[in-house]
Amino acid sequence: MDLVIRNGTIVTASDVFKADVGISGEKITAIGHGLTGEREIDAEGKLVFPGMIDPHVHMALPFGGTVSADDFKDGTVAAACGGVTTIIDFAIQAKGKSLAETVEARRAEADPDVCIDYGLHPAITDFTPEVLAEVPEMIAAGMPTFKLFMTYEGWAVDDGTLFATLEAAGANGGMVGVHAENYKLLMYLIERLVAEGKTAPRYHAESRPDFCEAEAVARAILWAEQTNSPLYFFHLSSRAGLEYIIASRDRGFPIYAETCTQYLLLTDERYDEPDFGGAKYVMSPPLRKEADQKALWRGLATGDIQVVGSDHCPFTMEQKRLGEEVFTKIPNGAPGVETTLPLLYSEGVGKGRISLNRLVEVFSTNPAKLFGLYPEKGTIAVGTDADLVIFDPDREVTISVENLHMKADYTPYEGMKVKGYPVITISRGEVICEHGQFKGEAGRGRFIARKRITRI
Ligand SMILES: [Zn+2]
Repeated sequence: MDLVIRNGTIVTASDVFKADVGISGEKITAIGHGLTGEREIDAEGKLVFPGMIDPHVHMALPFGGTVSADDFKDGTVAAACGGVTTIIDFAIQAKGKSLAETVEARRAEADPDVCIDYGLHPAITDFTPEVLAEVPEMIAAGMPTFKLFMTYEGWAVDDGTLFATLEAAGANGGMVGVHAENYKLLMYLIERLVAEGKTAPRYHAESRPDFCEAEAVARAILWAEQTNSPLYFFHLSSRAGLEYIIASRDRGFPIYAETCTQYLLLTDERYDEPDFGGAKYVMSPPLRKEADQKALWRGLATGDIQVVGSDHCPFTMEQKRLGEEVFTKIPNGAPGVETTLPLLYSEGVGKGRISLNRLVEVFSTNPAKLFGLYPEKGTIAVGTDADLVIFDPDREVTISVENLHMKADYTPYEGMKVKGYPVITISRGEVICEHGQFKGEAGRGRFIARKRITRI
């Protein structure tokens, strides 16, 4: 065997056991005891996870008159150093373009740069009969999941588009994922706040209240139930929205939700940080209250929330300052791809909120299944891709922008102490990150043609 990870504790969504993992080429070829290989890594006292899968990132995203600070290289180096071996980004349709053209252009951007494997969710913004006809074609071409924005100028889709795409994706083994916020209501609230001179970052949160999310969640669920289609909510932030999801799941519908570490760990008090510091947390949906956090942690533990993603969309403080005069001009987004695993481990497993198996399930196995990557990715078994993370559960790290790899010049988690950190990341048999040093090459990552989704 080319590489053997010895004496580690293997963690999957269902098991925790001590064994060696043997790798030949890009695949796991043996799990057992006393394995030997050309290169051996001693993982005594360490956990061995399947590579993490972040189904929600935005590298080099043009937004609000600027472009998110990480390109596909920077962003995937950061991901790798945070234990993430697969990302799914978006190919957002420009007006008048076909989905095929959109995806081709996005791949041309990503392919030379990506350091880990990646997939794309086509995002429909300009719906026509031709675009609808492309939905099954995209699924067949390895992109079974579609993003629809229910908000944002230029991107927001109407209910007819949402209904028709749900039908078409659902009927062909695909799935629609939505950004759920009521566009017209929040536009009204924004205008009212700005007219009252309420322009500071804090009013970003006030302009997008929880019921704005909850209404959109409820509406999308109605269309999903009527079309009998699976539906995924990106970055769910509120208890009010979660309640509609739980109710639909209790009725037996395949409704899925992702939340992000920022909604699990931060609250809207952050918007009051001095010196325009609140802008760091301007993202949509906005940070919520402690009661929302509690509901989200509970949903993650009980299974009503199935996935954690990062919504990694970093901007530098200089970029954030585009909105110094008024919060509506602050580019929306924050970095997170590199910190999700250590935070989820330390705050989730370390504090008894979720089990070790559940951590692997929500950040690897479930995204693999829901997004058509399973079983090649998302678990540790003979025959699967050798995407692995060696994780030191005892390593104590103070999160700081100084020791992260992304290009944003701040992290929302600055100064937060975590116990447990990824130490080695392996992608298809290659050690690509070792103790914070990236060892891979730009362009080594591959576009993964994903399969039809597995309902979970
Ligand atoms: Zn996003």
